[in-house]
Amino acid sequence: MQKPIYTGAKKEILKKIFRRRSITRAELSASLGLSVLTVSKAVSSLIEDGIVKEGDVMESSGGRRPTCLSIDPSYAKIVAIDIGSYSFKIGVVSLDGSVVEHQTILNDSLPAPAPTRTHEEIEALIQTYIDRYSYEKLLGIGIGVSGVVNHISRKVVFAPNITGIDPDIARRLEQRFHLPVALDSSARCMALAEKTFGDPEQASNFMFVSIGNGVGAALVVDSQLLMGAQGFSGELGHLKVGGDDILCSCGNRGCLELYITIPMIVQKVVEELSAANIFSLLKQSPEHLQNIKIADIVEAYENGDKTAIRVIQNAASKLGFALSLAVNLVNPKRIVLGGGLPKVFPKIADITERYVLENSLTPCVQDLSISLPSFQDDSSIVGSATQFIIQVFD
Ligand SMILES: [Zn+2]
Repeated sequence: MQKPIYTGAKKEILKKIFRRRSITRAELSASLGLSVLTVSKAVSSLIEDGIVKEGDVMESSGGRRPTCLSIDPSYAKIVAIDIGSYSFKIGVVSLDGSVVEHQTILNDSLPAPAPTRTHEEIEALIQTYIDRYSYEKLLGIGIGVSGVVNHISRKVVFAPNITGIDPDIARRLEQRFHLPVALDSSARCMALAEKTFGDPEQASNFMFVSIGNGVGAALVVDSQLLMGAQGFSGELGHLKVGGDDILCSCGNRGCLELYITIPMIVQKVVEELSAANIFSLLKQSPEHLQNIKIADIVEAYENGDKTAIRVIQNAASKLGFALSLAVNLVNPKRIVLGGGLPKVFPKIADITERYVLENSLTPCVQDLSISLPSFQDDSSIVGSATQFIIQVFD
């Protein structure tokens, strides 16, 4: 049986409970301008449906002590999918953003562009979760894609690092499974996870930057996720930070993506070591040189290898310069660095911070912190589910 769709007072009450996380009936009545009786009747019905639960009992100055209401995370779950160039993730997430289970499938060939799972494989994986949880427990499917996505038309517009993806994957899965599907860029999904389920103190003004085989970004300003006129805000990876010598997949030259991504750091290290007659910990043999992984470069960096240090610092300086433009424009309190590169090299946050401070206007960086995501490895899965969940409650 499909879950009910709420309208009117019940919908407003659900939105308020979701946003506040915990609220009393009296607070609902006051903040929504609804009578105590209307709130009481609607809440009783929502509790009966299992979507709202009663929790802690509050202190009272007299009379009956009020109880706090919250969304019951066990009410329903979301199938969450993240399609990246480095990995494919799929799992099940509760309404409070907690991951019930998930799996990560690394793509076979690196560096990008790597083939993603075929649509048949994706559909087979979704089917296994539907079989396990049943339609009664699933509200829908949330998908994040590493690329440029128009979340209004729900189409993948530009995903050069993911070959073979159907731009209309949302509609395709909706028709196949008869469940609603939400689609957005991975970076925006991960920003929504931080905004909705992360530290409320840090959730109003921040920027989420995902760095892996590409660079994606999302900006939350005054508690609003910036979308832009056509829904393409946050294209940090295509800010011009370098010279005209290298052509980017977008058709322009000198974009940030040509410096800070995992494949570009690996390529630059290999180029430098192939061309120059210099000593490096990474230069054990010609075969080894061609098979260098980002983890090898990180290890060499930690051991003081000059080439690794030079390439990483150059990449961080370009990222820091691009971030300083955004810092001066929107004055975030926090920059979150997520994705594959910060995962294997968390120190990139500290290295980049130096360049951001150097290039930004001083008052804009007084309270600024650069850190890793609150949900660490689960960020993309929680994010894909969150963009679906907020559509239900907004
Ligand atoms: Zn570009």
